[in-house]
Amino acid sequence: MIPFNKPYLTGKETEYIRQAVENKKISGDGVFTKKCHQFFESKYGFKKCLLTTSCTDALEMAAILIDIQEGDEVIMPSFTFVSTANAFVLRGANIIFADSYFDNPNIDADAIEQLITPKTKAIVVVHYAGMACDMDKIIELANKYKLFVIEDAAQAIDSFYISKGTKKPLGSIGHLAAFSFHETKNIISGEGGMLVINDERFIERAEIIREKGTNRSKFFRGEVDKYGWVDIGSSFLPSDIIAAFLYAQLENLDAIQTKRKEIWNSYFEGLKTLEERKLIELPKVQIYATNNAHMFYIVCKDLEERTTLIDYLKLNQVNAVFHYLSLHKSPYFQSKYIGDNLTNCDNFSDRLLRLPFYYELSQDHISLVCTLIKEFYESSNQ
Ligand SMILES: *Cc1c(COP(=O)(O)O)cnc(C)c1O
Repeated sequence: MIPFNKPYLTGKETEYIRQAVENKKISGDGVFTKKCHQFFESKYGFKKCLLTTSCTDALEMAAILIDIQEGDEVIMPSFTFVSTANAFVLRGANIIFADSYFDNPNIDADAIEQLITPKTKAIVVVHYAGMACDMDKIIELANKYKLFVIEDAAQAIDSFYISKGTKKPLGSIGHLAAFSFHETKNIISGEGGMLVINDERFIERAEIIREKGTNRSKFFRGEVDKYGWVDIGSSFLPSDIIAAFLYAQLENLDAIQTKRKEIWNSYFEGLKTLEERKLIELPKVQIYATNNAHMFYIVCKDLEERTTLIDYLKLNQVNAVFHYLSLHKSPYFQSKYIGDNLTNCDNFSDRLLRLPFYYELSQDHISLVCTLIKEFYESSNQ
């Protein structure tokens, strides 16, 4: 079976974990956590980075930091993972779902303004497949209506937004951003995440919320002589053992990214004749986006065709998987949803198919997957 995902190990993970253990400081914010923070702050110019135990946690921290109150409205795409919404629902927010573009799963920047009301507090963007949302338009709206912008950058490590000739790293544009190092992402630590703080006003409070609502971080820096309970919070920081694993991955980030882009390009080359013949659609990299090769997907004609193709691939030992079910139609949310139909979102829910994608996927296996997909369309479209 060609699996859908296979976590890649660089080889240094266990060595660094051993070092972390020998340091005898295996709780949070040890040597490796600091190395990871420095890595991101210097490579991407993020103002402040804080490792968390997941991207979900980083999003929950973001919701606390922007002080979401009962009844506040938060606009986000419906085509996303549950954590994007849950983090704000937990604080009492009403989620206002926006549609995707017709030809791109990201939030349609032109669909946002009509959803803004006096209760709107934030726009949460999700850079799907690691490809940027149209951030200039979104930032302009946020400035006009004084809203916070939070980037769910779970899939978006080492990807950029191109604006007026400059490349801005995803995660550096909103007030806050959340990354994931879950084993299905480009850079992994099993479970893991990171909050990025680009607006200085949030830095001090973020450290407190992450440390159970205490000013312990300040205490360890010698800035206060005792620490105590000063705010709400939780335990959002990971053990240094997790950070040690992550650091081994970060040291290999460029090699991992180079390899993943080769895989992405091989799929694209292997399948483009099917797109030319209008049998499937392939991902489009917008002029303002870069591609970090987080995933490779195709868009089938309809749900039925996708289901048949998944079965066909499975029969041939290839595991391809669909992705998000529209959140506004989820069992939890559907009875609460009062907005318009989100047809583009539903379309991607029904038609998008993700192909096996991982560092060690061989060229032979990529060719095999492409051949199988071509055979499928040959036999069903004579
Ligand atoms: C993976 C993912 C998450 C959740 O990340 P965790 O680290 O597993 O909490 C959130 N949002 C998006 C868009 C994701 O792809």
